[in-house]
This record gives sequence, structure tokens and C-alpha cells, in this order.
Amino acid sequence: MQTAIATVSLSGTLNEKLEAIAKAHFRGVEMFENDLLSFNGTPVEIRRMIEDLGLRTIAFQPFRDFEGMPEPQRTKAFARAERKFDVMVELGCDLLLVCSNVSPDAVGGIDRAAADFRELGDRAAQRGLRVAFEALAWGRHINDYRDAWEVVRRADHSSVGLVLDTFHILARDIDLRPIRAIPKDRIFLVQIADAPLLDMDYLSWSRHYRCFPAQGDLAIQPFMAALQATEYDGLLSLEIFSDRFRAGSAQRVAIDGQRSLLFMLDELRETTEVEVQGAPQLPPRSPVEAVEFLEFAMDQPSAAALEKVLQGLGFVRAGVHRSKVVTRWRQGDINIVVNCEGEGFAHTFNITHGSSVCAMALRVEDSAATIERALKLLDQPFRQAVGPGELDIPAVRGVGGSLLYFVDGKTELGRLWEVDFESVETSGLEEAGLIRFDHLSQSMEYEEMLTWLLFYTSLLDLRKAPVQDIVDPGGVVHSQAVEDERGAVRLVLNASQSRHTLASRFLDEFFGSGVQQIALATEDIFRTVEKLRASGVELLPIPENYYDDLEARTDLGAAQIDRLRAGNILYDRDGAAEFFQVYTRTLEGGFFFEIVERRGGYRGYGAVNAQIRLAAQAQLTSNPVVLRL
Ligand code: MG
Repeated sequence: MQTAIATVSLSGTLNEKLEAIAKAHFRGVEMFENDLLSFNGTPVEIRRMIEDLGLRTIAFQPFRDFEGMPEPQRTKAFARAERKFDVMVELGCDLLLVCSNVSPDAVGGIDRAAADFRELGDRAAQRGLRVAFEALAWGRHINDYRDAWEVVRRADHSSVGLVLDTFHILARDIDLRPIRAIPKDRIFLVQIADAPLLDMDYLSWSRHYRCFPAQGDLAIQPFMAALQATEYDGLLSLEIFSDRFRAGSAQRVAIDGQRSLLFMLDELRETTEVEVQGAPQLPPRSPVEAVEFLEFAMDQPSAAALEKVLQGLGFVRAGVHRSKVVTRWRQGDINIVVNCEGEGFAHTFNITHGSSVCAMALRVEDSAATIERALKLLDQPFRQAVGPGELDIPAVRGVGGSLLYFVDGKTELGRLWEVDFESVETSGLEEAGLIRFDHLSQSMEYEEMLTWLLFYTSLLDLRKAPVQDIVDPGGVVHSQAVEDERGAVRLVLNASQSRHTLASRFLDEFFGSGVQQIALATEDIFRTVEKLRASGVELLPIPENYYDDLEARTDLGAAQIDRLRAGNILYDRDGAAEFFQVYTRTLEGGFFFEIVERRGGYRGYGAVNAQIRLAAQAQLTSNPVVLRL
């Protein structure tokens, strides 16, 4: 299959869109009339620009309100079509997309529509062109691909074919089985778009909320499996109307589009076990076993202050890097690396973002296969010089320009702590019962959220949890987790359209997206809180009212509530499963730690408590008693 993307999917001027499309390795482009009309030049000049970029125009659209018109509109519609054909000849494009009629004047009738298309086919063929018919989900008489196919079938013209658009088909939940019976040479174009499941009218849903496959909830894979049964080997084009994409970077969105197609075709190959033409074979998505370490980029004074907090949290200094100013802090399976190098990646990151998390390492099953998959998915690789005998840990760029490293247990990378670090004596220090990373939350621009969702789920064997909307005193925060089957790795993506939420202020104050919240798991939160208290860690104070409400809405006894209140511990329950959470105050760098305990297989993140926590954090920000590093 050959892939393409519609100009409407991207932001910017036509030049910017085409450059982004070419850079994202597309070869085909679907030209939207508005992009052509708003270009200051002739269709011939556009054609030259497209060819110079190594692209070709695979379709021109949209042509509206054509079939089933009474006179005199019918004659006028044919005259309009002839003018479009003139433009297409200049543009070097041979396929016109005709959307089903939405005009109240349209008469309807399959045979009348077929006769119109037969005549249009004749006129197109005289100029070496073709036309393709698409059923819009909100078409007046034709809003189902099965009816559009019947029109095309009865038109019985080699220059008239069908467009299948996943949005229009899946939004209406139309049976996919009849696709298998359509001859592949009668399908002139397949348009791919996903969307979140929303309960709204088809037109608004389509015009504002489309997204790339794997970013939404529609049944794209079953559609592709039905298409695959026809042995279709023609064009797959992304046609995405999205407010988010229009506000985002054309370059980033174009790369996301290519990545989503590569991922989709790879999944298709895996599920149908049929060779999918034109799609490179990728190594499988690697299971993620754990977060191996989190790395902070710091200057010396900030590092000393962070290390004091880490000690308070029960971490011990476990190693020093053999050649760099880098320290390893450890507790249970949690490794935190503090990098104070005066040059290199972490140093540059620190200069740009201040005290912040500059890298995260994931322990995967096969790190070489993961990096190979990443490169094939157009993720951005990263390498920097390493000392003699030290490990070259494979990495790609992640959120906010940070790094995502991959280590595994099958190579030398599994001995990272022995190879690159000298261990340090740590006897006599008492840990606080923290056992592993529970989850890491990354705050980002709203427009980036779908990018990173696709990044994580296309590369790694992680699945997305439903989006949660959380009320911050400064606005609504959209929160979406990606996690593995067992809950060993959980990453939470947070973004807000309001500039006043904690998530947005983090972006403003620390110059970019990144890890804002580090949640660590304990098996006994009460014991952990006692230890933290004893070592002077200040926890986020939770208002009395919260505990009064907890008493009213749960069956917890007074003694249990008192214990939670005394520890500033938040509580949630899901059936028999329970969740306990407590927060440190926000540290310099804008991030904070959370300590959680999950009992009975609790899978969530305490969303019910998020509003309380955010209000408590906002309270402290307006009256700052920030724990200084
Ligand atoms: Mg379409």
C-alpha cells in the first residue's frame, strides 16, 4: 500500500505543509481546495513545488453537492466539475473526490446518482481523469458506504470508483463485512482517521476531533482487516480535521502521521498474519519490565539540596560514576541519578530547564530490538560520547527534549550499576520502605499530548487508559495514563488548555514539558509517613474538610480516619481495592514526590482526590512555604 496525507491535516501555509509532509517521508499528498485557493501562485507553480519536494498529488478535494440534483442545479454542477478538472490538469492530479450530497435540493435515488456519476466519469475520462465517491456520515440521501458502493457499481464506469473513509464508516458503526465483497480495483482511495468516542453530531465530531490511528477509540484494525481481505494495494491517506493539529507544529504532526501508519500496518501484519505490501517489518513492541532509573540534571548547590530531600525520603547514596560527576541514589528497586556534569547533555538540559528530570531509563526485554523499532518509527535517536569501558546506553528523545534510555537484562546493559558506577558503603542508614517507582507524570502542552501518547504506545507494549478530566483551581487538566498489563510501568500524561493550572505553570516556569510528579510505592504508607516525619520531610497539608467528607462517604472507622488525617494521607477505594497517597511539598524545579500504597490490586491514580491535592498545592503556591532545595 502507498501512503499519503491530506494538506488539511496540518497547520501552516501550503509551503510549510508540503515541506513537513516531505520531511516525514510521505510521497503522496491529498490537496485540499482551500490550500490551493489561499496559495499565492498558479496550480502549475504548486505542481512544480510538489514535484521538487519529491511528492505527487494523489487526489484533489472536496467536490460537494453533486449527485441527484434537479435542473438547473444539475447542469451547473457539471460545469463546476469541468472547472475542477481544469485545475487538476494543471496540478498534475488525476483523481477528484466527490462527497455525498448534503443539499436540501438533492432528490435522492440510487439510479439517478449512478447516471450522474456515469456522465461525470465520461467527462473525466475524456481528460484522462477519474472521480471517486465518498459517503459522508451526514450525507442527505447517501451516508453509508454500502449505498455509495451501489452507486459506483451501477455507474459501471472504469473512471468512477469508491472512497472508503474510516471515520464516516466507524462513527456510524456500519457493518464492516460488506467491504470484503468490494473488488479492490473499484476502491480508488482509502482515507484513514481515528477519533475519540464522543456523543455528538457527526459533522462537529468529524471536523474538530479526528486524530491519527491509535490516538482515538475507533475500530481501525477491524476495518483494515476487512480491507486487507480485498487484497487492496492502493492508496491509504490520512485525512484529519483536528483543532489540536491545527494548533500544533506541522512538522511534528506530519511525523506523527507517518508513525501512526507504520504502527497501524505493523499491527495489521501481526493480527492478519498476511504480508502487508509497502510496510517495513518492525521488531515487536517490547514489554517494559520497570523504570530502571530517573536522572536529574542539576548544578552543585541544587544537587546538594535535592540529595538532602532524597536522604529524608530514605534513599542511600549507592554509587558514584566512574568518570562523571554523577551520583546514584537507591532505595528498594528505585534508582535516582543526580547528574552535575559541567558539559554534555545533562548540563545543556540544566541550562535550558533548570533543576529537572533530564532522562528516564526503562528496563525492556530487548533493548537492541527496541531501539531498532524506534528508528523505524522515526523516533529521534540520541548518542553522546562515553568513557572507555563504559556502557553506550541506547536512547531516543522523549518529552520536552529529555532522553528515554533502554536497558535490558540480556546484555551488558543489565550490569549498568557495576560497569559505570563505583559502589559506596551505605551501612547504618535506614530506608523508608519505598520499593519501586509507581508512576511518573509528565506535564506537556495540550497540543503535544497525542504525540506522546502515540510515541509510547507505538514503541512499547503499553496501553492507554481512558482520559480523565481533573479540576485544578486554575482550569481543567486532561490526564491520560499509559501502562503495561501488570502495572509495572505507569506513565501519566497531563496537559491543560488553561495557562493557570499547576501543569501549565510548570511548563511556563521551567521552560518546557517534563516530569513533574514522581510517585514512589510503599507497602506500608503509615510506616513510611512516620519515617518521613522523623527525618523532617514536609508533607502537603490536606484540609480537615476532606477527612470529614471521607467519614461521610466511606465506611472507614473513626480511628482509621484519624490515622489518615494525622498523616495527610488521601484515600480511594475501588470495590475491595484501596489506594493511599501522600505528597511532598513542591521542590525547586517545580516537581514533587508522591508516596502511594496500592492494596488489593487497585489500578487507578486516585483521580477522585486530584482536585483536593491540586487545591492544596495552589494554596501553598499563593502562600509559599516551598521546601527549599
Ligand atoms: Mg474523507
